Amino acid sequence: MAIQLPEMRKDKIRDRWTIFAPNRGNRTSSAPKVCPLCLENENYLPQNCGGPHILYQERDNSGLCSVRVVPNKFLLLMIEGKTDVQNISDVFDRTDAFGAHELVIDSRKHIYPIEAMSPSEVMAVWRCFIARYFDLKKDPRMKFFFMFRNYGKPAGASLEHPHSQIVVYPVIPTDVHKIISNFQHSADKYNRCPACSMVDYELRKKERIVSQNDFFAVIEPYSSMVPYETWIMPTKLGVFHSPSFAHFLNDIPGALEALAKILIDTFDRLNRVVPGLSYNMLLYTAPYGADNEQGSFHWFIMIQPVITTPAGNEKGTGIYANPLLPETAAENLRSSK
Ligand SMILES: [Zn+2]
Ligand SMILES: [Zn+2]
Repeated sequence: MAIQLPEMRKDKIRDRWTIFAPNRGNRTSSAPKVCPLCLENENYLPQNCGGPHILYQERDNSGLCSVRVVPNKFLLLMIEGKTDVQNISDVFDRTDAFGAHELVIDSRKHIYPIEAMSPSEVMAVWRCFIARYFDLKKDPRMKFFFMFRNYGKPAGASLEHPHSQIVVYPVIPTDVHKIISNFQHSADKYNRCPACSMVDYELRKKERIVSQNDFFAVIEPYSSMVPYETWIMPTKLGVFHSPSFAHFLNDIPGALEALAKILIDTFDRLNRVVPGLSYNMLLYTAPYGADNEQGSFHWFIMIQPVITTPAGNEKGTGIYANPLLPETAAENLRSSK
């Protein structure tokens, strides 16, 4: 039976949502010959009022637009629909695929990796994430803000022009729900956030620390899933625990610049040890409604280089076989420059 409208479905055996978005099937066949994210080809972007539909933009010192946020042409989620979850049977749930799916275009330049950008350029990109976070928060149907960046074909990037994506879900995704439960469980049982404990431990041991500045620590995590998996964790003393990336970066003077600098440095190091790196960068932040200072969630950025391919064991059990110890990875990254 043909599916007419995008929808989300979940079975209670795997407890995992799947989005059925029929219009995304045409992505390859309808791909334009030119780059739709380059400024001169903006007629390929979703249009509104006779021009590209710009949701938010930042301009550089010369007044030219530097970062632009536009709706994704091949939407995972639609801005119309109901958000209530319907029980189809005692095994199946469904909901309309309601939510937001946006593209954040880093720059006017077609080839411009993060490590080549200036801190002010990276800050402009993150100001877009923050602005969209607060704007989408106004809609009470939005539950979870997720930003991710696919860089390089092996990482799933269908366009070469550097960009990130924002997806805001009407439900909490299962894997995120598990992380939320772990934070809550640790807060209840040990009266301590596990991410704060982890940063504290790593900063004392220094074995898996790559670098740090006044606001962030870069860590190769103890149970890294893939070679050179890297976490960027907020660490500022006094505001050590922080549920929301947007509040942290927006409210604390110097935090945004510190993030930009450590991102540039981290990608520079990663590219020195893995030239031509493909990666997924994922932002984990507290769900809307649990993003105040008292929340148990601790926001962080996860970078997963795509060097190995997950196969049957990883897909079937979630247990990854990683050929590189994080202690070695951290040592290689520390001595890379
Ligand atoms: Zn381009
Ligand atoms: Zn914490």
